[in-house]
Amino acid sequence: MTQIERARKGELTEEIKEVAKAEALDAEVVLERVAKGQIVIPANKNRKTRVVGIGKGLRTKVNASIGTSTEIADLDMEVEKARIAERYGADTLMDLSVGGDIVAIRKAVMEAVSLPVGTVPLYEAFAIAIEKYGAAVNMPMELLWEVTERQCEEGVAFMAIHCGINRQTVEMLRQQQYRFGGLVSKGGSYMVAWMEHNNKENPLYEHFDRVVEILKKYDVVLSLGNGFRAGAIHDSTDRVQIQELLINCELAELGRQMGCQTMVEGPGHIPINEIEANIILEKKMSGEAPFYMLGPITTDIAPGYDHITAAIGAALSSAYGADFICYVTPSEHLGLPFPEDVREGVIAARIATHVGDMIKYGHKDRDKEMSKARRDMDWTRQFALAIDPERAKEIKTKRKSNNGPTCTMCGSFCANYILSDMFRIDLKDSEKE
Ligand code: SF4
Repeated sequence: MTQIERARKGELTEEIKEVAKAEALDAEVVLERVAKGQIVIPANKNRKTRVVGIGKGLRTKVNASIGTSTEIADLDMEVEKARIAERYGADTLMDLSVGGDIVAIRKAVMEAVSLPVGTVPLYEAFAIAIEKYGAAVNMPMELLWEVTERQCEEGVAFMAIHCGINRQTVEMLRQQQYRFGGLVSKGGSYMVAWMEHNNKENPLYEHFDRVVEILKKYDVVLSLGNGFRAGAIHDSTDRVQIQELLINCELAELGRQMGCQTMVEGPGHIPINEIEANIILEKKMSGEAPFYMLGPITTDIAPGYDHITAAIGAALSSAYGADFICYVTPSEHLGLPFPEDVREGVIAARIATHVGDMIKYGHKDRDKEMSKARRDMDWTRQFALAIDPERAKEIKTKRKSNNGPTCTMCGSFCANYILSDMFRIDLKDSEKE
């Protein structure tokens, strides 16, 4: 049985207890939300991983996507990226490899980290089809089921599956007649090409029950992918994106009824004033299924800094109720991320989700502790509270101050130091909010 099926029977699984403990919540509350499909726990029966809960009332989680391309396929680098993602605090990892020995890379990545690992099985199926049958559009449907099941057997914890693309949404896109950014989802574009070439319905939509049955066997979380997400600010929240969201929300309900843990994926590129509406729609239409936002990227004009454009979107998204954020690295739109990009992306997303959770849940204690440590110039405590202690320590150490406990920013003009003689004791004792 899956976590959702066990929760519906009232079973407090070890995973539910762990999630409750990690989030300082009552286990019965977590149980109820897992049963309703408002919390998912990606924990494949075939692979022991760190237990991570995603959904209502839980800290917003961060996913780091890694993986090869057809241009750069270096197994060792992917393993290094996976380790860096774990070391700097990602909650989950997605291996989106499309180049090299995809199976070997996934295996090595899963051996290297304890994080739950997600995939897009469509990528491997299309990669095999290109190699074996000459083109992605020649992919036989059976291949797709085989690849999906094999990845489940290997221990993949969650899968982005593009079920919400169907002939109606493709037709809607055609009638809309414009899209500045076209389609930017790899799986989505290939699937539309497959449907057009074969004049067939998307098998992932048409045979949704088969998708669910395969994933359920291993308790893999179904992440309903958004193949029609906007890849340009000017395309966001258009008819086809919302139609796909509507279909995914219906499928999320259906999947849960069938006993499969499900979540829904969101944008994409989006201006900040549209983020809240997208989250309200997803939550209302899906019965509060966990919402997995990709970035989201909030302006198109900052290549090289898209970890920042996405962090702005991620902070607002988590504040408005998104549950899970896929990081974006500085190399987005420019090239395959290298290990240092992964670190930047993870840290930026963690800062953003913390900022969002402050608003969503009022989690401000750590900030208060940091303020006190700054006031007291307690550098050890400041490093311990920092999201990236290594970076903070490195900067401080390289710029040694000649003025006692101050730093080189103000030196002898240090406001903390000047006031410390006059107010330190009063300030410390008052502990004002
Ligand atoms: S020198 Fe300036 S920046 Fe550094 S601790 Fe003092 S007030 Fe803060």
